[in-house]
Amino acid sequence: VLPEVVHQEVNAAMFETDLLVVGGGPGGYTAACHAAGLGLKVTLVEKERLGGVCLHQGCIPSKALIEKGELLHRMHQASGRGLLSESLKVDAPALQIWKEQVIGRLERGVQGLVKGAGVSLLNGEAVFTSAHTVQVIGAAALDRIHFQSAIIATGSQPASLRHLPFDGVRVIDSSRALSLRAIPPSLAVVGGGYIGLELATAFRKLGSQVTVVEALPTLLGGMTSDLRSVLERRLRQLGIGVEVGAQPLGLTAEGLRCRLRGGEEVELPATQILVAVGRRPNTAAVGLSALGLKVDEQGYIAVDKHCRTVVPHVFAIGDVTRGPLLAHRAAKQGRIAAAAAAGGNDWFDEARVPAVLFTDPEIAYVGLNETQAEESGHVVAVSRLPLAALGRAHTMEATEGLIKLVAERGSGLLLGVQIAGPHASELIHEAVLALEVGATAEQMARAVHPHPTLGEGLMEAAQHLLGKL
Ligand SMILES: Cc1cc2nc3c(=O)[nH]c(=O)nc-3n(C[C@H](O)[C@H](O)[C@H](O)COP(=O)(O)OP(=O)(O)OC[C@H]3O[C@@H](n4cnc5c(N)ncnc54)[C@H](O)[C@@H]3O)c2cc1C
Repeated sequence: VLPEVVHQEVNAAMFETDLLVVGGGPGGYTAACHAAGLGLKVTLVEKERLGGVCLHQGCIPSKALIEKGELLHRMHQASGRGLLSESLKVDAPALQIWKEQVIGRLERGVQGLVKGAGVSLLNGEAVFTSAHTVQVIGAAALDRIHFQSAIIATGSQPASLRHLPFDGVRVIDSSRALSLRAIPPSLAVVGGGYIGLELATAFRKLGSQVTVVEALPTLLGGMTSDLRSVLERRLRQLGIGVEVGAQPLGLTAEGLRCRLRGGEEVELPATQILVAVGRRPNTAAVGLSALGLKVDEQGYIAVDKHCRTVVPHVFAIGDVTRGPLLAHRAAKQGRIAAAAAAGGNDWFDEARVPAVLFTDPEIAYVGLNETQAEESGHVVAVSRLPLAALGRAHTMEATEGLIKLVAERGSGLLLGVQIAGPHASELIHEAVLALEVGATAEQMARAVHPHPTLGEGLMEAAQHLLGKL
């Protein structure tokens, strides 16, 4: 497969390890540390930097930019409300330096965790050569490892569009967008999923003129309409153009040519075009066939509830498995796979994984929505609390949004919670725990929640629900 590599192998070192983990993202490093804590001799191979996409090109840099965009936006809004904010400007290179400092601190934290757990870390690219061996192609050395079991955690990369290929300058992916040293005067975002919308909002608040182009008839395909409509209203208020049912056709000197829903062709202003049309798993170059593993038509590796593949001593976790591409999902799967490799029997429940969109407002949900609950045979009771019912929301000028609880009629067992509003990403934690412990609406209604907070909304929504059970 790699003749020059096989040639060098004559002088290669040979390692023995109980567990090999390929990929040092949130899935891989969590798995490695947990397995080491369970007593396994663990080797973790990472070809770039510990922390993976999450730390270097995903969750952390995007939230850093979103946070600063939001701060700037709120400072602009403050005038007329008793605060004077003058001559606010974006210093994009300084913003990048700050963002890299944040990443650097967190990366050192992950390095410390891995080292402290006693995990052997190899820097290089892993390619499987048989069911129990892997080669690590590194800058400095080439190692061969013999392993008892393995966890594949090689993550994903941005998907591209054939007629708008990435050139890193005008047509960029999310990683490049997060490292821009100048805020584009105009930005077309192709793809109305969560990554596209988060970055569209961040760049709008940092000063770009933004248009989102989505081929499907709605943004955020699959999301319930009540959550989506809160977001759509806010996008309009922020002055973000949204074209659904639209097809990007190609670049022009200053823009993006598009066919709109009605068939009309227009040129959207776009000094840069961010293509965010999904991600594809990194499974093509790992040597899976040497393991006896196949992928599905989109490149994903099939796993059971223990994250075990069809090859019993091989596990797969995170973005290489089918499901929502989320860091906390990868980390949870990492713990499950590590425990299974150590002989445990814990299992992964996809239904317990919360989803969060760091849009404006934030959207977060866990468990079943009303339709899903009915489709799975439940007779449901639903309560919707508009944020405008909460004093805290008024002090924050954030009355757009809602908290929605779905429970089983009769027992009051909570089945799902959906939130659209500021800090939904934090508010959802109570719902996650409630579902985990099998809480009822009555228990949530009885718990005293501090005032004035947005979290009171969960208690109030639960109180309303009691009358409907
Ligand atoms: C812009 C953006 C924003 C996001 N925001 C969020 C968010 O807010 N919340 C959230 O939960 N998720 C978010 N995500 C998704 C999240 O980043 C991923 O779901 C998560 O990183 C997946 O973790 P992982 O461990 O499966 O893989 P990754 O993080 O992709 O890590 C895989 C690692 O494997 C390494 N690797 C690959 N092949 C090899 C090989 N052959 N040998 C050695 N090493 C290899 C790679 O270098 C990489 O470091 C975001 C993603 C993007 C792009």
